[in-house]
Amino acid sequence: MGEHVKVIIRCRPMNLKEIHEKCDNIVETSDYDVSVLNPSARSAPRKSFRFDSVYNTFSKTETIYNDMCYALVESTLEGYNGTIFAYGQTGCGKTHTMQGDGSIKDAPNKGIIPRCFDHIFEKISIANNVRYLALVSYLEIYNETIKDLLSESDSSSHTINHSLKDVPGIGVTVPSLTTQPVKNAEECYNWLKLGNKNRITAATLMNETSSRSHTIFTISLEQIESSVTQSSDLNNMSPIIGCIRRGKLNLVDLAGSERQSKTGAIGERLKEATKINLSLSALGNVISALVDGKTKHVPYRDSKLTRLLQDSLGGNTKTIMISCISPADSNYDETLSTLRYASRAKNI
Ligand code: ADP
Ligand code: MG
Repeated sequence: MGEHVKVIIRCRPMNLKEIHEKCDNIVETSDYDVSVLNPSARSAPRKSFRFDSVYNTFSKTETIYNDMCYALVESTLEGYNGTIFAYGQTGCGKTHTMQGDGSIKDAPNKGIIPRCFDHIFEKISIANNVRYLALVSYLEIYNETIKDLLSESDSSSHTINHSLKDVPGIGVTVPSLTTQPVKNAEECYNWLKLGNKNRITAATLMNETSSRSHTIFTISLEQIESSVTQSSDLNNMSPIIGCIRRGKLNLVDLAGSERQSKTGAIGERLKEATKINLSLSALGNVISALVDGKTKHVPYRDSKLTRLLQDSLGGNTKTIMISCISPADSNYDETLSTLRYASRAKNI
């Protein structure tokens, strides 16, 4: 099972605020290891952790994609399910990694999601005797409520509460969710942009911030192998419809992992924070149960996030968790907590 779950770390460069505050860099990386220095106990030994791969402040999204994500996307094209998560404290690079900053100048940092679009449709365009049907959906989980980011009505204040349905033999679905057929990478990209716009509109209307919600962009691929047999009579071509294979790729930008007590949340905000952490801790429990392999019970049912991803975590599926961290001493507590979470998912 461990083979199917890969956990990697990405440390972003210092941001302007950290540079102005003259923060120290407390993170050291090598190919597979990260170590952090406790800034308030500098003589104490550094805490170190080992992962499937570690990317430093110079690493580009292009490298992460080619090293880690490429193979996962290939397997979804072959009919398996896969999930790529971005985890970490707000401001550490989850959205930068998943979506990119949209700037053409920084092409090597084009996000993982648009890279998946390119990869999938490149592959589809050269496929022989295979017909593909590709569908996309984009949802947000906020406060354990599901929002359809591709539906106009959900971006107004009348948010529909989409419910999950357990369909035997199929799995957990959201029957009311919009799914859009797509024919090329550009169409996918347009749906992603529309979803992002709806997300911002809804958040502004309700006084929320996007760092508190999880988003899942899903590409479902259905393929039919059709080999054409040719008899001696050229007019008598009979297509043989082969098996149908279905694969699904989930691209997940998780809510900020920062502890809410630090942000002084009270009342509604605290309730909401507890629910966010519920999904994140449920995810941690599911992944560590899967990696452990000995645990019979995988607690998928504990949160909306893990229920939704149930058919894409474990079994024959592949998972990559990209944990984003800051190098600055001012973020020591959060960085350590991210490394611990990631390391528990790895179970080394
Ligand atoms: P998050 O989604 O985790 O809250 P963002 O992806 O929005 O964080 O990143 C916060 C800021 O830091 C953005 O301006 C982003 O462009 C920048 N940033 C994040 N990671 C990197 C990186 N690896 N290299 C350069 N800039 C980065
Ligand atoms: Mg973000």
